[in-house]
Amino acid sequence: MHDTKTIIMAKTTSKTTSKTSTKTATKSQPKNAGTGNGNSLLHEFFLDSLKDIYYAEKAIAKALPKMKKSASSEQLASAFEDHLAVTKEQISRLEQVFESLDEKAKGKKCEAIEGLIKEAESIIEDTEDGTSTRDVGLIMAAQKVEHYEIATYGGLHQLAITLGHEEAADLLMQTLEEEKETDVLLTQIAENDINYQAAEEDEEG
Ligand code: FE
Ligand code: FE
Ligand code: FE
Repeated sequence: MHDTKTIIMAKTTSKTTSKTSTKTATKSQPKNAGTGNGNSLLHEFFLDSLKDIYYAEKAIAKALPKMKKSASSEQLASAFEDHLAVTKEQISRLEQVFESLDEKAKGKKCEAIEGLIKEAESIIEDTEDGTSTRDVGLIMAAQKVEHYEIATYGGLHQLAITLGHEEAADLLMQTLEEEKETDVLLTQIAENDINYQAAEEDEEG
């Protein structure tokens, strides 16, 4: 009991310290060296990861129109259309993040998103035009993208807090919430009817 209380108090104290006296405390507290330090290795990693997701969002914006065109369900097509608008906002939100850090918005090739988009394209190739089975594949491909984004924005939001970048943390949280909402919406679209319609399809169509 006594030990737990001490640990909780110690945590609370170090949090307060890092918020109120970041600059003076950095040298004497090596464990908090990253906090607010624009030259730290962690800060560099944070910036690199921002560039990665900036590249990824742009790639997603390019891929979404094709996904929309390939969808048979009107609901799915309009979900892709809506997410394109949201994605464009997310791109400018990332530009705000870079700005809040006094950095130029720059992309850095994200191999993961390239792979996920390639997978979406091969699903389109491998499924019949106008089928719900293709829609099922499109939803799964899109959800893989959303999950990649959720993992990335979740990590970035947490790092922004660690590094003391409050404005960036708020902006990243907004996007994280949007990606989560999109993921839930895609599950709903699949469960409402597309999966069941696809289950009725046979090779003759
Ligand atoms: Fe996004
Ligand atoms: Fe990446
Ligand atoms: Fe997304």
